[in-house]
Amino acid sequence: MFQSPYPPVDIPDESIYDDLFGSLVEADLDRVALIDPATGAETTYRSLRAQVDAFAGALAARGVDTETVVALLCPNVPAFATVFHGILRLGAIVTTINSLYTAHEIENQIQDAAATWLVTVSPLLGPAAEAARAAGIPDDRVIVLDGAEGHPDLRSMLAEGRTPPDVAFDPSTHVAVLPYSSGTTGNPKGVMLTHRNLVANVHQCRVVIELQRDDRVLAVLPFFHIYGMTVLLNLALRQRASLVTMPRFDLVEFLRNIQEYRCTFLFIAPPIAVALAKHPVVDDFDTSSVRTVFSGAAPLDGETAEAAARRMSARILQGYGMSELSPVSHAVPEDRVDMPASSVGVLIPNTDAKLIDPETGAEIEAHGDDGLTAPGEIWVRGPNVMLGYLNRPDATAETLDADGFLHTGDIGVHHVSGYFSIVDRLKELIKYKGYQIAPAELEALLLSHPRIMDAAVIGVDDDDKQEIPKAFVVAAPDSGLTADEVMAFVAAEVAPHKKVRRVEFIEAIPKSASGKILRKDLRARERA
Ligand code: ATP
Ligand code: MG
Repeated sequence: MFQSPYPPVDIPDESIYDDLFGSLVEADLDRVALIDPATGAETTYRSLRAQVDAFAGALAARGVDTETVVALLCPNVPAFATVFHGILRLGAIVTTINSLYTAHEIENQIQDAAATWLVTVSPLLGPAAEAARAAGIPDDRVIVLDGAEGHPDLRSMLAEGRTPPDVAFDPSTHVAVLPYSSGTTGNPKGVMLTHRNLVANVHQCRVVIELQRDDRVLAVLPFFHIYGMTVLLNLALRQRASLVTMPRFDLVEFLRNIQEYRCTFLFIAPPIAVALAKHPVVDDFDTSSVRTVFSGAAPLDGETAEAAARRMSARILQGYGMSELSPVSHAVPEDRVDMPASSVGVLIPNTDAKLIDPETGAEIEAHGDDGLTAPGEIWVRGPNVMLGYLNRPDATAETLDADGFLHTGDIGVHHVSGYFSIVDRLKELIKYKGYQIAPAELEALLLSHPRIMDAAVIGVDDDDKQEIPKAFVVAAPDSGLTADEVMAFVAAEVAPHKKVRRVEFIEAIPKSASGKILRKDLRARERA
């Protein structure tokens, strides 16, 4: 078993509201919590707390209590923080919905989570109202933050000036949020996270991720996904830093916001790292304010990470996690300059992990001459491990064992100095003639080609029903790149069994809002 190199941290036995807002001191109150680049408006911690309380009071007056599930469908705008923490303030449960979802997808999540209220914004009201109708939520329970005929809105709810009631619940067992996993490998699963899970992950992260009070953090990763929810909305607010909100990713907007607001700390996912490493427009902006870039959510290879870091003149640190871990379990500490850019760092405090050989079930502990263990499935235990999947006792039983370890489904290795590196997902490994090939390794190699802008690899069947690696490649404009050139490039760099044996050029690699390559979409395209 591997343990966190850190001594355990104290995890306050309180709700996430008490932890974030109950701990505010006078010196924090006039600091800026949120900046909205669309209007330039700033929200102080004092005003954020007042809004959270007033929104909670207005919801309570309408009958929302500790049993109510409220669905939140909203891009990253400052009001998200008000609503999210207002709901949690009452001990009600928030289920956050992907703001790119269709009416049908929204309805599915509302039904699965048994939400009886929906909070949204007018640009999303089309699909939101359709989903609410189908799920039987009446208009007076569909709150449209910026206002719409026949619906409650934020301004008037806050203007009621109500005080929320005192509520009592056990933070260790009471569900706070029901985020959904990204649906990379199948249908998204609702994940039950308690107040303690959320509080724990903030305090565990605080020790390793050096996000400080004076940091300006660009909040482009979606708050609805667990990564943005914990490290942006919760960690950055707990540190009393300032969040600059972006409702959607656009590279030029992203760079302009960094320049204009002098952002110091960026949380990104690998697609943004690829853009920062490869896109010429990056040189047109002044990003010198950035100190640290933190990447998670999907594999990021060392070469892309270093190229992006050079162009930002900042360090890129990786972390690893999943919805089921609230989400962070590993991160590279800022002072560990010895760790390669490709690694996801050490176990955060209060966690331990095992590496399990997926073939034999044996625990892997021995390090080879290169300092690394053999690859194995990562199992993690800690106070950030979910209560279970919602409505999915079968999936919960497969994922959580009797000793409290969560089986991540990800293959990784451990280095004797303490860090882990992720190889790929167990389910995505390609089996070629008995050899295993990690798509992520081939994708990294393809990205190192100067005329390849983006790439993804999946296993496909050849004519003999043998699984072979196929690359989907986005070529640089007018590059004239051919499939043979791509295959020859890979063949020159890898062992013969890992060669890419088919290439298809494609306009863009399908990716989820949380930043993952949707290999399942490429597999569907292949079948079609
Ligand atoms: P689903 O479980 O619905 O198929 P998902 O696993 O993509 O979707 P998330 O919980 O958002 O849903 O993502 C967690 C996964 O993201 C991890 O299991 C892992 O595969 C991947 N991941 C996260 N961080 C990293 C990282 N730094 N390097 C490699 N993979 C990562
Ligand atoms: Mg998953």
